[in-house]
Amino acid sequence: MDVVVEVFDTFFFDRLYATLLPAPYAQYAQYATPKTTPNGTYSSMREVPTPYASTYQYRPASEYLSFQPGEYAYISRWPRDSVFRQAVTLYLITWYALSLYTHLTIPRTSTNPRSRIFGLVIYFFCATFSYLFIFDKATFNHPKYLKNQMRMEIAQSMHSMPIMAIFTVPFFLLEVRGYSRMYDSTAEGPGMWYNILQFPLFITFTDFFIYWIHRALHHPLIYKRLHKPHHKWIMPTPYASHAFHPLDGYAQSVPYHVFPFIFPLQKFAYIALFTFINVWTVMIHDGEYVADSPIINGAACHTMHHLYFNYNYGQFTTLWDRLGGSYRKPNEELFRRETKMGKEEWGKQAREMERIAKEVEGEDDRVYVKEVESKKAR
Ligand SMILES: [Zn+2]
Ligand SMILES: [Zn+2]
Repeated sequence: MDVVVEVFDTFFFDRLYATLLPAPYAQYAQYATPKTTPNGTYSSMREVPTPYASTYQYRPASEYLSFQPGEYAYISRWPRDSVFRQAVTLYLITWYALSLYTHLTIPRTSTNPRSRIFGLVIYFFCATFSYLFIFDKATFNHPKYLKNQMRMEIAQSMHSMPIMAIFTVPFFLLEVRGYSRMYDSTAEGPGMWYNILQFPLFITFTDFFIYWIHRALHHPLIYKRLHKPHHKWIMPTPYASHAFHPLDGYAQSVPYHVFPFIFPLQKFAYIALFTFINVWTVMIHDGEYVADSPIINGAACHTMHHLYFNYNYGQFTTLWDRLGGSYRKPNEELFRRETKMGKEEWGKQAREMERIAKEVEGEDDRVYVKEVESKKAR
């Protein structure tokens, strides 16, 4: 994250903090000519420059990518290494970055034109890309597609992201302040072999923990309070990918944040993995059942999870579902164009879903488009 913070500081936050929280002029002057005694300590307490702008020294976050800071980096009451500034900056970046997934270009067909005004990037970007080019719009006719579903998915995501970001900041802050095992050059890391191995290690580690966290979220004592909002969507759209109760979304993201405190992780690999995670989360909700893989927990597996609740808790692989006895092979019909969106398959899905939902949730309080339409027709 320090690389990301440096980029944002250079192009945006330096100027913002220098404008909103300028260092008093005297401090700035002192920074230019610090009064020190010959032995290098400050001559008297009164002359000690406040530990703001004056103490900050630029050190690039990475030797591969760095930006020489301009004058704005030195003239704020909150210098770049102030813990308060870092916390606020990380909060804004996390919130913005999360939202970016969904936000940039809400589709014109969206039922909520107002949400197009907000300029927040990755969620909106990925989900919108997926919605426009991958997502099968026939889903809208599924008997279990909800009234105003996309609008509700986006609203749930927008509501959760600022809260999730608050809980995520402490991890990023510790990491930016150098408490994690993140490394820059290969010489600082375990070696060339690890530059490759860290990817499968990260996936294996997080896959294991997310499986158990997700499974725990389905425990009857927790489910209704925390995880039910994400299961409102029986036939999710790409916008459901981040539509969680904030604590649910956060709980499932903890393994990603804990990893670099236990294992070494290259800084850019981390950024790449974070982007991958978010794209993956959108992909398993887009209803495009690319491959009928026995190993990968793809969109078909996750569709099974949204339809039938207590199966396929996995994130990346089916390994823990198989070992934990919760694996359910996606219906064959999903992989054939003719049958995937067929009335017969949908009817079968709806009947089984209703039966399981009754067991898991009791009364079903969802409002389905088809129900509303049939009531109107009567
Ligand atoms: Zn679930
Ligand atoms: Zn889901």
